[in-house]
Amino acid sequence: MNIEKIKKAVRNVSDFPIPGIQFKDVTTLFKDPDILRELTDGLYELYKDKCISKVVGIESRGFILGPLLAVRLNAGFVPIRKPGKLPAAVFEESYEKEYGTDSIQIHRDAIDSNDVVLLHDDLLATGGTMGAAVNLVRNFHPRKMYVNFLIELEDLKGRGVFPPEVQIDSLIKYDI
Ligand code: AMP
Repeated sequence: MNIEKIKKAVRNVSDFPIPGIQFKDVTTLFKDPDILRELTDGLYELYKDKCISKVVGIESRGFILGPLLAVRLNAGFVPIRKPGKLPAAVFEESYEKEYGTDSIQIHRDAIDSNDVVLLHDDLLATGGTMGAAVNLVRNFHPRKMYVNFLIELEDLKGRGVFPPEVQIDSLIKYDI
């Protein structure tokens, strides 16, 4: 995978959604068929030997590569969604974001204790969102949890929020 080519294809948008945030727009990656395939293949290579049985994607940009990866891994796909979207009984967690506070939910019957779970989101900033997602998945006591991001903003040190037993990987890292 050509990381520099992929980095060049990410659109950086200044002051979105609020002043001071440099937003990494991944729609410019997903619209390119070659890059979309390279990203899916790259993620598959990371996890193909891990016996993943469920890929958990976080609303909404985790819903793009998450299901593509689930199909490749022969795993199921589980959505984590914002409040009021999932129709059946849920677990809920609240968390701080790089911009604002939020909550996320997962269906109570989405995962079982035999599952090996891969949580996926597009981007790791402060780690608040994925930290809450890990706490949600902990409710199910799965056999193992892996955490994956397409992009990691290393300077925000989001990795620090995760316990050591959770393996974290990202395809593309930015150190500024
Ligand atoms: P955090 O909880 O701080 O790790 O933020 C991660 C979540 O917020 C992900 O779902 C991202 O899609 C979104 N996000 C946070 N910061 C950015 C950014 N600079 N560019 C694009 N998305 C971001």
